[in-house]
Amino acid sequence: MTIKTIKQHLADLKHGQVSSVELTSDYLARIASSELNAFISVNPETALAAAKHADEERAAGSDKPLLGLPIAHKDIFCIDGTRTTCGSKILENFTAPYTATVVNRLSDAGTISLGKTNMDEFAMGSSNENSYFGDVLNPWGNEVSRVPGGSSGGSAAAVAGQLVPASTGTDTGGSIRQPAAFCGLTGVKPSYGRCSRYGMIAFASSLDQAAPVTHTAEDAALLLNSMTGFDKRDSTSVEIENEDFTRDLNTPLDGLKIGLPKEFFGEGLDDEIAQRVADAIKVYESLGASVVDVSLPNAKLALAAYYVIAPAEASSNLARFDGVRYGYRTEHYDDLGQMYARTRSEGFGEEVKRRIMIGTYALSSGYYDAYYAKAQKVRRLISNDFDSLFQQVDVLIGPTTPTTAFTHGSRSDDPVAMYLNDIYTIPVNLAGLPAASIQCGLSSNGLPIGLQLITPYLQESRLLKVAHQFQLETDWHTLTAPSLEVA
Ligand code: GLN
Repeated sequence: MTIKTIKQHLADLKHGQVSSVELTSDYLARIASSELNAFISVNPETALAAAKHADEERAAGSDKPLLGLPIAHKDIFCIDGTRTTCGSKILENFTAPYTATVVNRLSDAGTISLGKTNMDEFAMGSSNENSYFGDVLNPWGNEVSRVPGGSSGGSAAAVAGQLVPASTGTDTGGSIRQPAAFCGLTGVKPSYGRCSRYGMIAFASSLDQAAPVTHTAEDAALLLNSMTGFDKRDSTSVEIENEDFTRDLNTPLDGLKIGLPKEFFGEGLDDEIAQRVADAIKVYESLGASVVDVSLPNAKLALAAYYVIAPAEASSNLARFDGVRYGYRTEHYDDLGQMYARTRSEGFGEEVKRRIMIGTYALSSGYYDAYYAKAQKVRRLISNDFDSLFQQVDVLIGPTTPTTAFTHGSRSDDPVAMYLNDIYTIPVNLAGLPAASIQCGLSSNGLPIGLQLITPYLQESRLLKVAHQFQLETDWHTLTAPSLEVA
């Protein structure tokens, strides 16, 4: 089954080749018969009603940019009147009282929300094995069951499994780019502050960003046009003019300067991934780009700094889940203290509890300077490294992940092995930069390989152009998972 991009769907809708009701019904049927466990909730009635409305709007001459397009949202985004779980038992029966800005903007642009995608609990994880709602299967896993990556694993599996043409997700340390890499997709993390965090359940507030996962960079640009923009309800939202991210897509890459950070090609990187990345660099050279070896000397400290900063912020953000205001409450308690403790012990999963404990420790009196304050200094050094490299080059390129999609259970007992998945993605979040993962090949056992592209702050247009030009030249992004080929 060949892939169908958002761009193609929008053209079909516009030219009356398909109605939104037909398209929505088709995708809902695929979701209903799927065994990927990519969704936590599906909303067929509301989706079909919205699709019907979109068809009426089109008939009345509406020119909304994404009118009638079915998409899905990671279950971290609140939607008014809809269950929003964040992959956790503690929010299993939580109905959101308002809608996230990103979701509102995409609905205003005409999208139809089919449902909410599965994810690692509170977006903590790299395999989607930390979801209260069960593991998600990667459609590329053939004989053995492979993880889709995480934490936006359901969003990526849903797009790769052709259950929806595109999904939203989030990226705090790699959660859109790593699943995109594992599932053969395009994942674009915008600059910190580009997308409003209002209504997006907080994990690590200084790092969290909403992000799209799609088949192509062009599709990502179309979605980002309607996801980004200043929002006065998020104090970290950047106040700049809205951009048309499709504007520069077709500008040739002649003269582009690419930097290859040597820290992204060291120990732990699969040989096959290194090889496919080298092949991709050759494609860029053939398009007129020049390549230099560069260094991010402090990148080696990124993982350690992230695993202080992110848990510290998470421990504070997750304090609100206490059994009083909303969410799960334990049935067995004698007093308030016990109610808090039991609610949180029963409601949170193992990884979330581990992070809360690490974060609480890192922030505690006497340790704050040694851990949190120090990690913030490291963060500044990493950011400075990027700044100085971007004086010399236009884009940094490397692998997205050190390995391809691994099998279920193979890393669950070793948190550090799991954390190492994000070794190339995390430095970008610490510096607040935009970055993408695009597919650049297959391993010998038929698994997708992701290429990471990083550009300076707010240079999403350049990022998307560099990704799009590669996709014009190659066809890795058009491959479908073997499990779909017979369909
Ligand atoms: N895998 C990383 C973590 O577990 C990143 C998660 C994310 O980006 N939300 O923290």
